[in-house]
Amino acid sequence: MSSLLIRNVRFVEPGQSVRSGDVLVHNGRIVATGSTGGAAQVADVIDGGGRLLSPGLIDVHTHGIMHSLYEAGPDDLRAASRELGRFGVTTVLPTIVPQIRDGWLDRLAEIAAAIPTASEVCIPGLHIEGPFMAVGGAACPTLPGDLGLLEQILSASAGRIAVMSVSPDTPNILPIIRRLRQEKITVFLTHTRAEVEETEAALDAGAVHATHFYDVFYAPAEKEPGARPVGAVEAILADPRASVDFIADGVHVHPTAIRAAVAAKTWAGVVLITDSNIGAGLPAGVYDTPWGFQVKVAPNDAARHATKNFLAGSALTMDRGMANLLRWLKLPPEQVWAMGTLNPARLLGLERKGRLAPGADADLVLWDEDLTAARTWVRGISVYEKLIR
Ligand SMILES: [Zn+2]
Repeated sequence: MSSLLIRNVRFVEPGQSVRSGDVLVHNGRIVATGSTGGAAQVADVIDGGGRLLSPGLIDVHTHGIMHSLYEAGPDDLRAASRELGRFGVTTVLPTIVPQIRDGWLDRLAEIAAAIPTASEVCIPGLHIEGPFMAVGGAACPTLPGDLGLLEQILSASAGRIAVMSVSPDTPNILPIIRRLRQEKITVFLTHTRAEVEETEAALDAGAVHATHFYDVFYAPAEKEPGARPVGAVEAILADPRASVDFIADGVHVHPTAIRAAVAAKTWAGVVLITDSNIGAGLPAGVYDTPWGFQVKVAPNDAARHATKNFLAGSALTMDRGMANLLRWLKLPPEQVWAMGTLNPARLLGLERKGRLAPGADADLVLWDEDLTAARTWVRGISVYEKLIR
């Protein structure tokens, strides 16, 4: 396989620094950074023109992009994988809300089996959002913990689940969390009205992360007038074992709420997600969905019901989310970049992802000044190049 030298860039080492120099790639891996003067035998040399080069972005919670919806099947999975490079995404967990009806497990099996055919992005596995949730929303089923159903889901997906999201207050959830950990599946918490003790029990059982934190995280009922109820939000903020993620679109969560989580968790405990859906990444307009209504997409807004205007999902893309976080958080940029790269890689246990250092996979994005991707590589292979207008 060929080698690649990206010269004259400011390269981001997430959590550490932003430095000037070159990045040398061989056989899909980064082999040197900084001054690489001796690299004479390089097949492909690119002048970065002093632009920013970062590790590719990693989205651990996304339902779709542009015209594709992952749960629709393998064709949508492949179509989405071809579009993600333009948003700087090189690793993704296609996220599926289980609809427990006839044929659903077959559909899940087809989607899981299609993962190796989506070659233009890395897919470590699926993120299954449900069905063992305590609070519905976004068509999410609310079933009690059922080990038999879990085994059916595990066998249909044939080892290709990376994450399952559950609620700490779902009846009989602890055996589900323990079984998922046996399979090395990362457990996220969400859609909840849990008490502190229920949340702590879920963390003790092996849950490690809260997804679209604050959204669909309700406080338990007030027990004594004048005493503010505490629940999953406080338990998660207080527990150093748990990290959190945010839909950083300025609609689903206020920047101050993200800053509060960063103050509790430090930069290393906060992750950027999109939770994106059909319409994300498309120009402003009205688009068809499989849900019986159209959605309206506009700049700097979430997706909304085309006529009734209520929130109908996220239209965020990872590049815009990263631009928002860089603007909102008063942190060194390398710490903010970690939220879209190193932190999600660590959460999933992906040691060669999310870093820009010798030995890491050459998943790289060269960024223009407006933080849109100019070029994207996955394991050293070019998957996106912006057309010169
Ligand atoms: Zn979701």
